[in-house]
Amino acid sequence: MDSREKVAALIRAGMNVARINCSHGDWETRRKWIGWVRELSPAVGGVAVLVDLQGPKFRIGAIEGILDVKPGYELVLGPSDADIPLSQPEVLASLTTNSRLLLGDGNVSLRVLDRQGDRIRARAITGGLVTSRQGVTVVGKTFDVPAISAKDRTDLVEACRAGADFIALSYVKTGADIAELRQLVDEHDPSVHLVAKVEMRQALKRLDDIVAQADAVMVARGDLGLQMDLEEVPMAQKEIIRVCQRRGKPVITATQMLESMIAAPRPTRAEASDVANAILDGTDAVMLSGETAAGAFPIEACAAMARICARTDHEVDSGPLLREYSSRARKGQTSPTEAVAHAVAEIARTQRPKAIVTTTSSGQTPRLVSKFRPATPILCASWRPKTRLQMALVLGVEAVDVALPTTTDEIVDHAMRAFLAAKRLKIGDSVVLSAGVPAGEPGNTNLILIRPVTASHEG
Ligand code: PEP
Repeated sequence: MDSREKVAALIRAGMNVARINCSHGDWETRRKWIGWVRELSPAVGGVAVLVDLQGPKFRIGAIEGILDVKPGYELVLGPSDADIPLSQPEVLASLTTNSRLLLGDGNVSLRVLDRQGDRIRARAITGGLVTSRQGVTVVGKTFDVPAISAKDRTDLVEACRAGADFIALSYVKTGADIAELRQLVDEHDPSVHLVAKVEMRQALKRLDDIVAQADAVMVARGDLGLQMDLEEVPMAQKEIIRVCQRRGKPVITATQMLESMIAAPRPTRAEASDVANAILDGTDAVMLSGETAAGAFPIEACAAMARICARTDHEVDSGPLLREYSSRARKGQTSPTEAVAHAVAEIARTQRPKAIVTTTSSGQTPRLVSKFRPATPILCASWRPKTRLQMALVLGVEAVDVALPTTTDEIVDHAMRAFLAAKRLKIGDSVVLSAGVPAGEPGNTNLILIRPVTASHEG
């Protein structure tokens, strides 16, 4: 993302959410990137901005150059003149003989030998390259630190000022962490959606609570793979996606999806399968990080991912989702709005309309319909710019701008006209339309219409 041309190429290749990671860089650069994304965003299905707060991540200090650590090396951790500076008192205090530390992605793992005053002697079990400010994980330890740091508080204000559509919080442990973020963000922009990054072992125990509080969730596999054994990560991913699907919350699967493309122009077969399988599991969005931030083939990686998504998106089996709904409905556990969305998905399955058209204030109607994974495209008409952009995280939804309708006829006319003009519909197409009446009141999905697009919708 270091030039306007690269951002334009990423958007052409299929990027529809740009993540701005506050773990790196400064706000001057971030504002420039956000400006490019806004300027280059297409009119239909725009590109959203997700600002990712660093959260309470522990990092090593600055080291000179790059340290090439080999297995068996002995290193000293501690003050600024140590091989690896480590300043956080809670981390230092937690280290005892045989404690295990992981640096960066976990390639470098160290075992503590002993402590001499404020210096910790450790031996490398596995080696790799160590660079300044890499993350550090103490295996099996969690620290009682505030969920939202002073830096996060500054960054969230800047994110709201810069018009972020989503703010993500790293290292979420409980739903209360997201509730606290909600309060802070509401002071500046209540329309921003909050993304809970699930990457801590404790978060898995409070998943339902976290998903209930968040607007969307990220399966942050990078840190998840440091916090638990790697063989646990695939099942954790499936569980997080399952809980999000049940609650109708969009979910992003992130990290190392096309890792080999950091250095190669084509993904491996295994990576292509990983992306496709995440979608088949029910993820709404898949994310690239190192591949586009620091890789040699960022545009190719984005295009490859977009091709895999386009091939797989409509293969999701909606049968289990519809059956799960029916089972909850029998127990009286569904809401009227969910019942309407379910009916829309069922109608689309049997009547095979050209599109499901939704008119929405908060985005609830398209989100609830998408939850049932209809094979039919979901078109979303909204008068709220943020709602339109927030649809970028919801699988199968494309959004356009319409004026706020004041009658049911206007709900139909405004949406049909907008999608005809955007060439997403043509005269003669049949659509199933769903919305909340009266329009403008969020959260009241209560209308279903089956209508053809007619010449009266032109112009
Ligand atoms: C992750 O840990 O997988 C992740 C997406 O978070 P970050 O990029 O902030 O490490």
